[in-house]
Amino acid sequence: MAEATLAIHGGPQAFAEGPFQWPLRDDRVFAALEAAWLDGGWGLYEGPHSQAFSDALRKFHDLPFVSLCCSGTLAVELALRGAGVTAGDEVVLAGYDYPGNFRCIEAVGAVPVLADIGSGGWCLAADRLESALSHRPRAIILSHLHGSLADAEAICQLAVSRGVAVIEDACQVPGAIVQHRPAGCWGVASVLSFGGSKLLTAGRGGAVLTADERVHQRIKVFSERGNQAFPLSELQAAVLLPQLTQLPDRNRTRRENAQYLVDALRDIPQLRPVSTIAGNEPVHYKLGWLLDSERIAREDLIVALRAEGVPIDAGFPGFIRRGSRRCRRAGDLPNSELASARTLLLHHPVLLSNRDTLDRLAQAIRKVMVALA
Ligand SMILES: *Cc1c(COP(=O)(O)O)cnc(C)c1O
Repeated sequence: MAEATLAIHGGPQAFAEGPFQWPLRDDRVFAALEAAWLDGGWGLYEGPHSQAFSDALRKFHDLPFVSLCCSGTLAVELALRGAGVTAGDEVVLAGYDYPGNFRCIEAVGAVPVLADIGSGGWCLAADRLESALSHRPRAIILSHLHGSLADAEAICQLAVSRGVAVIEDACQVPGAIVQHRPAGCWGVASVLSFGGSKLLTAGRGGAVLTADERVHQRIKVFSERGNQAFPLSELQAAVLLPQLTQLPDRNRTRRENAQYLVDALRDIPQLRPVSTIAGNEPVHYKLGWLLDSERIAREDLIVALRAEGVPIDAGFPGFIRRGSRRCRRAGDLPNSELASARTLLLHHPVLLSNRDTLDRLAQAIRKVMVALA
């Protein structure tokens, strides 16, 4: 039957509407660019657009201090410095996390300590932190990844009781609600990215949010070198502001569509979705599954899905193979290891499609899963 022939075997592409455009061609962004041209903001070191955007971020998160900067990665480093992390300190991060976060810890001269993620998603879990906390680390990097949200309440409580600073990495989840509070409000310092693939994008850029004036002041002093050394430009700030205004609506659409896809594929036993928690409103930069199969090789699956036109990728490589000269492992990391080997990520632009497109996307995924199983 021609229909069952996979695209990798010469069959027709099941889902031919990709690649999905990002960033969107957005009239409000065009108007912002035009405004920045008209008012001369495009050529200023600092001006009304950066001011308006950081005011909007403050208001959105109900926090007093925002430092705009050049990338999410640099924002993580600034957050560590702002929290007072210095050479020789230990900083806990998940055995499965954004690669740059490990490097940021090294960049401040601190030592990464790997703790395991929980089993229902891709985030650190409070009940797996005991051994990591035993050496009195200075900080923990808490990332919300792939549509899963960390148990921030329990982890922050634990951290506060041990005098450990939480750095919240909210790069993938701007606008998420984590246990009834916005993502970005849980850390001593919290981080956003405005990179080219992110939900709020200016091609590049980032921000550190904090309620702590000393943290904000340390970041300011480190960044100020006669001029801002790691700046976000006026032009970047100008295009970000209208995206922040639209973020809640778009997040809602992506969330509903992600749920629709997860439900449409729930009967496929080899695809394990994230477990959802009441009181949370996840945000989908990626929609993640764990491939729960010994038979299907993840790389084969990705090649076959991409041939069908499905925008899917592997997750992060994780840090489970990093040597003991670069980091310390606090206990076993079975969930991080599984996530490193088995994560599948659907990229977000497709989540703004209509239901007909989502149905065909689910069909394409189903067809490949059945053929490879
Ligand atoms: C993208 C990302 C970053 C880094 O952001 P850049 O702006 O690309 O430097 C950090 N953490 C996470 C979880 C990310 O997804």
